[in-house]
Amino acid sequence: MLVNAAFSRALERPVQYLKGVGPKRARLMERLGLRTLRDLIEAFPRTWEDRIETPPGRVPVDAPLVLKGRVTRTLTQRAGTHLELFIAKLQVPGHGAVDAVWFKRPNRRYDVFESLRRELAPGADAWVIGRGEPGLLKIRKISVQEHYLVDDPRTPLHVGKLVPIYPTTAGLPERLLREIVAAALDEVFPELRENLPEKLLRRRELLTLPQAVRGIHRPRSSEELEQARRRLSYEELLLLEFAWTLKHRQTREVVKGYGYEIKRSLLTPFRAQLGFELTRAQKRVVNEILGDMQNPYPMTRLLQGDVGSGKTVVAIAALLLAIENGYQGAFMAPTEILAEQHFWTFQKFLGELPVRVELITSSVPKRKRERILARAASGEVDAVLGTHALLEESVAFKNLRLAIIDEQHRFGVRQRTTLRQKGPPLDLLLMTATPIPRTLSLALYGDLDVSTLDEMPPGRIPAKTLHIGEKEAFEIVRAETGRGLQAYIVYPIIEESASLDLKAAQAEFNRLSKTVFADRRVSLVHGRLPGKKKVAAMEEFASGGSDILVATQVIEVGVDVPNAGVMVIQNADRFGLASLHQLRGRIGRGSGASTCCLVAQPKSPEARRRVAILCETSDGFRIGEEDLKIRGPGEMLGMAQHGELGLRVADLVRDSDLLASAREDARELLAQDPDLKSPDLRPLRDKLVSLYQERWQSIDLA
Ligand code: ADP
Ligand code: MG
Repeated sequence: MLVNAAFSRALERPVQYLKGVGPKRARLMERLGLRTLRDLIEAFPRTWEDRIETPPGRVPVDAPLVLKGRVTRTLTQRAGTHLELFIAKLQVPGHGAVDAVWFKRPNRRYDVFESLRRELAPGADAWVIGRGEPGLLKIRKISVQEHYLVDDPRTPLHVGKLVPIYPTTAGLPERLLREIVAAALDEVFPELRENLPEKLLRRRELLTLPQAVRGIHRPRSSEELEQARRRLSYEELLLLEFAWTLKHRQTREVVKGYGYEIKRSLLTPFRAQLGFELTRAQKRVVNEILGDMQNPYPMTRLLQGDVGSGKTVVAIAALLLAIENGYQGAFMAPTEILAEQHFWTFQKFLGELPVRVELITSSVPKRKRERILARAASGEVDAVLGTHALLEESVAFKNLRLAIIDEQHRFGVRQRTTLRQKGPPLDLLLMTATPIPRTLSLALYGDLDVSTLDEMPPGRIPAKTLHIGEKEAFEIVRAETGRGLQAYIVYPIIEESASLDLKAAQAEFNRLSKTVFADRRVSLVHGRLPGKKKVAAMEEFASGGSDILVATQVIEVGVDVPNAGVMVIQNADRFGLASLHQLRGRIGRGSGASTCCLVAQPKSPEARRRVAILCETSDGFRIGEEDLKIRGPGEMLGMAQHGELGLRVADLVRDSDLLASAREDARELLAQDPDLKSPDLRPLRDKLVSLYQERWQSIDLA
């Protein structure tokens, strides 16, 4: 949350300033990042619980019961040897007699029942919050989780309305933290000042800052809460947009200090020996990239293209331009299998061209690795492919100018930065097959230039996707491998686990190769195989040495075996949508028809939806958007990148409309006032400076 304190010192007072917060509590709060009153009112609730009094009638199924009544009698009971009950008989207006029940184990040192007996003497009025027996037509009994005395002046903070629940820590009960935040709010409320220009508030119909702060901590209705949340999200996104625009501006000021010339000494022979014509989209994208590389400032371009759209060839073209000019290139992929695969692909496509390519992964033997590193450092290697291993300090280049990151969403921003620092201002090409809806990519990457491969190589027939049983799926595998095609059978995990009824790749490999597919050549690959064995298994399959590859998700990205025409995904409901799409992208890479069999008994509605969507479409963008809806941006893109933005209020999916507005407004304000110098922007500017340092400075957008 974003509260401006330009005019107020009150906000900077330490939490101990508040009554009831001593050194011990202050230390606990420090652990939550709560040091000042400002931190407290900026503490964003984890959720809000609706604690409106439960009306008479049926016990609600998924909401807590909230009752207010007068104690008529109390008693304790034993239930078996392990449990004691404290029961307060309540008279609840509208409901009648209700038993409020507390539990405890006997022989605990501290007798909770003692204080209950004191507080809830007959005649006392109390609120109780807890669970009833769902479905019952009348509320007779409640297992109490929290109770509050009606006489206590703090009680209205906790019941009878929408109540904020703050993230807390052991030793600091929720209710106590709620009281502390409330005290902080009382203290500083009169000093809160607006920090957005009036005209934005009007244009976007936003609450003022004081209204929003109150609406978050003390919402009078869910509408007010939503209005408050929107206001604070908008502000957070506006600041993010400022930050991105400023970053963009800065990167335009960096000058590479080296240039490229299109010599065609490698590019032309490369295209001539490819064996196919580049698609129109590939040509366009290659031009965009080569154009960027010839610009005086460093390239940062995101290349999006659905699985199988042919990103690798585009990447090679970019590398060749660097190499033609006597520079080096680095190409990083998230898994060893993928790095290997690219290494073969490069060799295949480069053929006899005078280009020296090497591979560095953690399974390259030490001696060999040292030789390669020496050659990279002396400039005797033109391109180095590899995994995270490329990021190590020992990897140095003589004249690295271009870095390419495949499946970039698998990497964090900091890794990107590390790679980029291995040379002078580098050109950077980021590739991804997880299409990112436009709004989201704007928030994540700001004005990053984006190229999209929106066309598949000709003759591709999307895989037919079926939700069927294992038996039928195996019949398809048998028939297709009989015709000379190859098949993948994919399992979610590698070892049989007793708790989960999942088929494990290892066990299934043993079974299938001896029974159902005894007459086929079956090989196995999974993440825990040593690097060499992994590579050997992949090579065997890629070269046609086996018919069926039993695998885990390790084959999800990049693996390219055009003759593979069938994929069976076991327990498909256990995979996420993006993973399923990626996995399916391993087939249908040749010119023939292919089949993807989803073997699944989806139990949740979400799992059913995932399976259904996959059967329905092979459009990566559509799948990406569905995925975003189901899982949210954090999971979809890997927490790494989303988390690095450090957004506390805004939700990039829910607030995509606000993001668009914030973007428009940020641009307009910056166009009128490039340094945000005018007095009405002063508070925003201060906030921007501190947020920038705290969250965004280190993000390598560009
Ligand atoms: P991805 O975009 O998923 O990384 P790849 O670069 O692995 O896709 O390409 C998928 C397959 O398509 C590869 O076998 C590649 O050789 C082939 N391919 C790429 N471009 C073309 C093209 N223009 N025409 C025909 N096949 C192509
Ligand atoms: Mg690829």
